[in-house]
Amino acid sequence: MRIGILAVQGAFIEHEKQIAAVAEHSGEQIECIEIRQKKDLEKVDGIILPGGESTVQGKLLKDLDIFDELQGLIIQGLPTLATCAGLILLAQTLENDSVKHLSTLPVTVQRNAYGRQLGSFSVSSNVGEINNFPLVFIRAPYITEVSSDTKILTTVDHHIVGVEYKNQIGLAFHPEMTNDTRIHEYFIRKVNNYLLLL
Ligand code: GLN
Repeated sequence: MRIGILAVQGAFIEHEKQIAAVAEHSGEQIECIEIRQKKDLEKVDGIILPGGESTVQGKLLKDLDIFDELQGLIIQGLPTLATCAGLILLAQTLENDSVKHLSTLPVTVQRNAYGRQLGSFSVSSNVGEINNFPLVFIRAPYITEVSSDTKILTTVDHHIVGVEYKNQIGLAFHPEMTNDTRIHEYFIRKVNNYLLLL
């Protein structure tokens, strides 16, 4: 399988390392490709949108002519794992921002929801079926509203910080900044299921 990782800005290398670790544990052949232009999206079986700065990433998606193709692939059901700024790119509504980006995930997100200075912390919580996952937050958003068909994967202090809708997983935290590969494993299983149904 081939996983495309958006590599225009932000923490994409960390995701590549996690996917490499998953490939090593499972013995599965998983190739990572860094997405920097539209043609890099050809033949990918899943997409990762990393953390970073969503305004910059959103602008680069347009400037580099990746936006329409990427949005189309996600709408068609290509499995997508989005963390932090990636979640902001997917959200249909941003509470404190006049722009919106890919708008494929039916949730409302508040950017920098924990404040800019005190915005980095970590806690442990269950994420869907995964127990005690270390959640690392860096100037993180949280989700204030979800559609009725969006599954809530995890909450911290009553705020929603992880969701799944169809083939999209949106996380306010950074599983790629930990040594725990279970969320990336879960994503790879989702990609395998998607490929079986094609
Ligand atoms: N605060 C960033 C934004 O609004 C997201 C932070 C992150 O990805 N760690 O884009």
